[in-house]
Amino acid sequence: MSYAPRLLLVEDEPGLRLTLTDRLVSEGYVVETASDGEDGLSRAMAQAHDVIVLDVMLPRMNGLDVCRSLRQRGVQTPVLMLTARGQVADKVVGLKLGADDYLTKPFETIELLARLEAVLRRRPSGPQPGSNTYRCGDLVVDFRRMEVTRAGVPVDLSARELKLLKHFIEHRGETLSRDALLADVWGYEATPMTRTVDVHVAGLRQKIEANPKLPVHILTIHGFGYKFAG
Ligand code: CA
Repeated sequence: MSYAPRLLLVEDEPGLRLTLTDRLVSEGYVVETASDGEDGLSRAMAQAHDVIVLDVMLPRMNGLDVCRSLRQRGVQTPVLMLTARGQVADKVVGLKLGADDYLTKPFETIELLARLEAVLRRRPSGPQPGSNTYRCGDLVVDFRRMEVTRAGVPVDLSARELKLLKHFIEHRGETLSRDALLADVWGYEATPMTRTVDVHVAGLRQKIEANPKLPVHILTIHGFGYKFAG
């Protein structure tokens, strides 16, 4: 694997969660874990992953409902379901709900690794050179078509907002000052007012954040500027 695939493991059995995490990390995965369905869903929405390993029998929200919610919200991250032995119905329902594969418990870790590799090969969603689509949680940006959707619903962005979003995505994880944003996104057309940046960021948040008051994509770095978290 040329990059470390980001994996979200949603499993309520602490022993299995620990064993799998250790093994997956040693195989080069970056692993995030959740121990119930609600936590799994919110983590899957907040961060981009390359693959999700999702147990069906989970407290608070079962894996089938988590998978359904993800697909309804436009999250296309491949899902590998873990089902209990004999629960054939779960497999069928899971696949219908948009799961990509399933594995019946108990399973050998080597089998899980093989399935994961197959899923990642089939539907690579990680950083690909030349890719024109950016995904994070329920946010999907198609640069080729200049289209943005959130939770599967098209978002109408102005040309400037799109340019700003593209700049943020290209510099994700970096703290960007208002002055730098003004220079890079507005250039010489800009009235030299950093307030312009704040107004456009506020507008963009209204459109791409599930809760603009608690942004998860565009974070404010107080007294400095902004950071696109992913
Ligand atoms: Ca379980």
